[in-house]
Amino acid sequence: MDGAILVTGGAGYIGSHAVLALCDAGHRVVVVDNLVTGFAWAVDPRATLVQANIEDAAVRDVIAEHGVRAIMHFAGSVVVPESVSDPLKYYRNNTAASRSLIESAVAAGVAHFIFSSTAATYGIPDVVPVAEDMPKRPINPYGMSKLMTEHMLGDVAAAHPMNYCALRYFNVAGADPQGRSGQSTAGATHLIKVAVEAATGKRGHVSIFGTDFATPDGTGVRDYIHVSDLAAAHVDALNLLIARPQQSHIMNCGYGRGYSVNDVLDAVDRVTNLRIERRYEGRRAGDPDALTADNARILSTLPWRPRLDDLDTIVAHALAWERKLGERGA
Ligand code: UDP
Repeated sequence: MDGAILVTGGAGYIGSHAVLALCDAGHRVVVVDNLVTGFAWAVDPRATLVQANIEDAAVRDVIAEHGVRAIMHFAGSVVVPESVSDPLKYYRNNTAASRSLIESAVAAGVAHFIFSSTAATYGIPDVVPVAEDMPKRPINPYGMSKLMTEHMLGDVAAAHPMNYCALRYFNVAGADPQGRSGQSTAGATHLIKVAVEAATGKRGHVSIFGTDFATPDGTGVRDYIHVSDLAAAHVDALNLLIARPQQSHIMNCGYGRGYSVNDVLDAVDRVTNLRIERRYEGRRAGDPDALTADNARILSTLPWRPRLDDLDTIVAHALAWERKLGERGA
């Protein structure tokens, strides 16, 4: 295949799985990552790793040197509460850095751009499952920083010979089924990561944030998608952008069904044969009752189909990775 794929944030959780999927599909991959939150060892050895910030001029050299024809852009800051306390960090690392990267892409004539967006662009939806054309009203700077980048891409694709696909992720979890990567960041706040940390003895209990949501069991409902399915969606999106260079896309990435916090913890108990302590606590600020994807668009646009759509499988893969991290002392 002609030209390399540049993956920003390829040493991070989702980016490293995209690198695996791209390499497995036979693409040439170059990763740009500043390794602030990512890990060099998480980058598939088949890929080239360049340690740099995405707004650095070095990115233009990488694009030229490797003949980059498409960019998958994962780099950014992803902690929602931090975005509330330090909004300018999010507008810098997500919005402004993306602007620089897109500018480099346009200057170098990169034809295709795939962007990590988020269900946080919807805020608290009026109805679920939420579809792409429903109102985008982010309730935190993280969601807004990503939505602003979507808007930039829309404007740039109208003005320049570049098409794009923004993929709005729902709750990403799990790990590579072959154990090559997983969620490795310390200080995790995401439910499945927290739960497998409890299962491996890294923490004593799991707090359940809120029991009075308008959901069947009162705990929050989310659409958990396996990270390897998500990575596969990126490869399919890339193929579509290449095949139809006049079209751009915005697509939800979720399975279209929800599990409550209790459902997730039940799965962890099943998979581990443990009974992890649950502590019922108050709500976190800004948590919607339920957030699930209407995934009709991705199913009708891409050949992509969920392959790991099973909560116990997601948990089992997350747990296997957590145990592996434990063995290496992480
Ligand atoms: N949650 C919880 N305890 C935790 C972490 C999360 O009860 O330690 C709940 C949270 O309130 C939400 C769901 O689990 O209903 C998923 O939260 P997460 O932080 O994983 O992702 P989010 O949906 O906030 O992006």
